[in-house]
Amino acid sequence: MTSPMLISADTILTGFDPDGAPILLEKAALLIRDGHVADAGTNVAMRRKHPDANVTGGEGHAIIPGLINAHHHVGVTPFQMGARDQPLELWFAERLRLRDVPPELDTLYSGFEMVASGVTTVQHLHSRAPGDVTAVLDRANRIIGAYDRLGMRVSYSFAMRDQNRVLYDDDQVFLDLLPAAMRPIAARYLAGFGLSLDDQAQVFHELRRQYQNRDRVAIQIAPANLHWLSDAALEMAARLHDATGAPMHMHLLETPYQRDYAARRGHGSAVAQIDRFGLLGPDLTIGHGVWLDADDLALCQQKGACLCHNCSSNLRLKSGTADLNAFLSTGLPVALGIDEAGINDDRDMLQEMRLALTLHRPAGHDAPAPGAAQILRMATRHGAATTPFRNRIGGLAVGQAADLVVLDWDRVTYPWQDPRLGFTDVLLRRAKAEAVVQVFVAGRQIFKDGAFMKVDHKEELERLRQWHLRPRTKSDDEMAELADTALDLVREYYSTWR
Ligand SMILES: [Zn+2]
Repeated sequence: MTSPMLISADTILTGFDPDGAPILLEKAALLIRDGHVADAGTNVAMRRKHPDANVTGGEGHAIIPGLINAHHHVGVTPFQMGARDQPLELWFAERLRLRDVPPELDTLYSGFEMVASGVTTVQHLHSRAPGDVTAVLDRANRIIGAYDRLGMRVSYSFAMRDQNRVLYDDDQVFLDLLPAAMRPIAARYLAGFGLSLDDQAQVFHELRRQYQNRDRVAIQIAPANLHWLSDAALEMAARLHDATGAPMHMHLLETPYQRDYAARRGHGSAVAQIDRFGLLGPDLTIGHGVWLDADDLALCQQKGACLCHNCSSNLRLKSGTADLNAFLSTGLPVALGIDEAGINDDRDMLQEMRLALTLHRPAGHDAPAPGAAQILRMATRHGAATTPFRNRIGGLAVGQAADLVVLDWDRVTYPWQDPRLGFTDVLLRRAKAEAVVQVFVAGRQIFKDGAFMKVDHKEELERLRQWHLRPRTKSDDEMAELADTALDLVREYYSTWR
């Protein structure tokens, strides 16, 4: 148990009222005790009421709930490792060249970027984990361990998939596209991802068992995407959810080709198909959903679901932009995820929010456009709704976890900002990562003035650089050649689709 802390600021955003308006406390303080917000009120009253608490924050600062990156996969970005931005289906081929970065270094790398931009919770969807159950568990534990070292909160899931690993078609079809000399290389690579469904269920149950009593770690289910899952896998995802109540996060309808795949598979739209297996409901988050149509959204609304908007990723992978205004008009929780990386090839959540705020402004005075408070609510409360932590995070009301970000408001507004504009408007339009001066998770400070409390940022980045300087192996070169060859063949394969 730590001694109570009083953290004060000129403005504290504690959450949103039922209409979505921000709840703001002025000249206020929060009492943090045992990892939670224990009391809130004006600074003067709180100091009188809690004279023994340690005091931090103060004038010139603002406090917001910790941000939630609701869709994340990797640290070192595919682009950094030589995979150019391509339409998603081609990018799967392009990514065959990626080297296998040690999971701790990889996770810390993006963790640094997230925390420095105010992210306290990440939805880590782990999609590239070769090997048997032991190897996959080891990798998962090393990823979770890295978040733990940083002090972040993590909702981890090992992405379930059992088919169609490169094309929206059988793996054998992909192998048959390749020149004979490359088939063994590709087959060996694909065999690395051959965990049976039972084994995948075992990974989920084992991780849940290991982390069941951990405050900052939760395990959820990630049925990867319709094309990656056989009917048996979809059934199993639903069974795992029914047995445990763990929330699910599923990529769906990211590109028009995925919509076409659903049509080829039969039984209605992609959303209708997952609904047949009982997956659609308030515990399911649909990631991307760029090609959800009005009927799909109506079905989501009827059954309940969360959506996750991956703004940068949709742009970079040429997936389309997604109709965020239509998403928001459903009233469903809509989270925000950076996915692989944002438009600066990093994990800057403040910038991702700004991009989402700015991209969805169709012409016309009365055409809908998201407001700053809506976007901030996506990155906090609605993001929380997609994780097993739910209402414990995403706001700073009394009783909620003390996951919070202290911003130097003078830095946000320097040298001048007309005070007539609202707090969330200024935050969303102007706040950069340089204004993030302190980050707390569960009441514990994990970042202050550019430094991480438990991890040496510079040292870890240097280790990562040194790892990448290692000589390439024969297998690295083979996989790079495979990626180069596969790219054109995959493009040709899809040319007959549309
Ligand atoms: Zn993703």
